[in-house]
Amino acid sequence: MAVLNIRKYPDPILRQKAFLVKDIDGELQLLIDDMVDTLYAAPGIGLAAPQVGRSIRLFVLDLSGREEGGYPLSVLINPEIIHMEDEIRVEEGCLSIPDITEVVKRAGKIAIKGLDREGKEIIIEGEGTLARVFQHEMDHLNGKLFIDRLSSLKRNIIMRRLRKRIRSSGGLSRDEDTIHGDTGVRPSELRGAKSVRR
Ligand code: ZN
Repeated sequence: MAVLNIRKYPDPILRQKAFLVKDIDGELQLLIDDMVDTLYAAPGIGLAAPQVGRSIRLFVLDLSGREEGGYPLSVLINPEIIHMEDEIRVEEGCLSIPDITEVVKRAGKIAIKGLDREGKEIIIEGEGTLARVFQHEMDHLNGKLFIDRLSSLKRNIIMRRLRKRIRSSGGLSRDEDTIHGDTGVRPSELRGAKSVRR
């Protein structure tokens, strides 16, 4: 088990559409364990495989530390969003774009289908923060970042900040004083979730 290096914007892997996972084998289990370690070390609440340099459709999340509506450590392989409804606007951040948060419009309720780490099909329904994390991590698997979902005005302001930071430091580094990884948000924004296994 190991803490992996989190790829930061503008790493090109963050812009690639990730490939379907074909084999749920020992190598994948090791990667999942490392991703969980990396998620906790960050600390974050969600982490997609492209963020650790693997362009495959896999993400992990853990909202169990949240004060209300927490959701336990979960692994989703080849996930698909099968239902979306309602709309929420909440502040989002990303482990790959440190120290930038913005309000993003997302579906408020969602159902997602995928495989768990044993390869069993699962369907998870969630709302609030869980729904938002699912959408954020799904975006990573499609080469999309939360800044793509902002108005062009806001995006331009952020892009200017990012370009400046990349120029001055040779890359993005993390300010240790702030905690808002994929995709930390105030606990008051959490709502319930239920999962259906089959
Ligand atoms: Zn992210």
